[in-house]
Amino acid sequence: QAAPTPVETAIVRRKTRPVPVGSITIGGGHPVAVQSMINEDTLDIDGSVAAIRRLHEIGCEIVRVTVPSLAHAKAMEEIRDRLYKTYKPVPLVADVHHNGMKIALEVAKYVDNVRINPGLYVFEKPKGDRTEYSAAEFAEIGDKIRETLEPLVISLRDQGKSMRIGVNHGSLAERMLFTYGDTPEGMVESALEFIRICESLNFYNLEISLKASRVPVMLAANRLMVKRMDELGMDYPLHLGVTEAGDGEYGRIKSTAGIGTLLAEGIGDTIRVSLTEAPEKEIPVCYGILQALGLRRTMVEYVACPSCGRTLFNLEDVLHKVREATKHLTGLNIAVMGCIVNGPGEMADADYGYVGKQPGYISLYRGREEVKKVPESEGVAALIDLIKADGRWIDPQ
Ligand code: SF4
Repeated sequence: QAAPTPVETAIVRRKTRPVPVGSITIGGGHPVAVQSMINEDTLDIDGSVAAIRRLHEIGCEIVRVTVPSLAHAKAMEEIRDRLYKTYKPVPLVADVHHNGMKIALEVAKYVDNVRINPGLYVFEKPKGDRTEYSAAEFAEIGDKIRETLEPLVISLRDQGKSMRIGVNHGSLAERMLFTYGDTPEGMVESALEFIRICESLNFYNLEISLKASRVPVMLAANRLMVKRMDELGMDYPLHLGVTEAGDGEYGRIKSTAGIGTLLAEGIGDTIRVSLTEAPEKEIPVCYGILQALGLRRTMVEYVACPSCGRTLFNLEDVLHKVREATKHLTGLNIAVMGCIVNGPGEMADADYGYVGKQPGYISLYRGREEVKKVPESEGVAALIDLIKADGRWIDPQ
């Protein structure tokens, strides 16, 4: 009988075109990029430079800033120059929130990517006259949007920069709402309308995001976007996020449910976890999601049993100590198990195992091989010695 074909466990990512954001490339098979946004006022140059640097130093690969006025756009020149002179060129995205083409055009000179929200390019009927839009009215507004957007598209195209078409469920344009409702279809059509304008001007450095604060809406919108892009032969990379996810444990769970689900389906080329906390708090969550899915390896992978009545030591305490001692050893798998009742295979083939042996003693494993038994009080030090003896230790910085 033929051996069964092994099931592929690695995530197969959707093929997308590479889109540059400064020195980072989104899509095209590049690692899923991590991004966040500072919450300083961009007019506060010192504060913004420090915040961008702080985020970049802890692994935020693309930093977004808000640019609500022309003065803010001009401030970006100084911010960029200071970063270049005192730190390094951090890939920067400017968020232009409203129909401010002058602002977008100005800031496009200083950043690597401009994010626009199609819902805020408003050329709707006058108030009090809102019932529905005929096909002709719909198209007429589309023409006005095109006219408005054209100079920005040409500027970014000619500079070799990129644009994010960032649709938010909560801010769809009125005619999209009337025509498609407050739905994933409306979000997708909003993005497609802007994509078509860009393509008609031979601009393809596009990244698309469809965000919602409700995870099922965000999932449905992104899946539909992929389906529509596949039908239309488009291969733009997607930026994933759950907006207004909140804070604390539930904010992280919501973000992980939305972002992680799509990444597991191979969808998504860059992510942001939006928390109502300091942006620095978002970065470890992003990397945690990517590591858990096997998409990026930036930390030690720990395997630990949940503990039970058989546990032979204080598992929580030991796991904490092992983690503190070894967390800088990127690339290693370390298991901490309360006992060996089900055999070393339970350690998920970790590189090293710290396993309860008998009261007061633990065993150290290298792979599936038991290397030595030591008193529990010497366990963490002995684990470090074993890693050192194998030449896999590096001193923490
Ligand atoms: Fe309990 Fe041992 Fe399983 Fe840990 S590995 S949960 S201690 S049986």
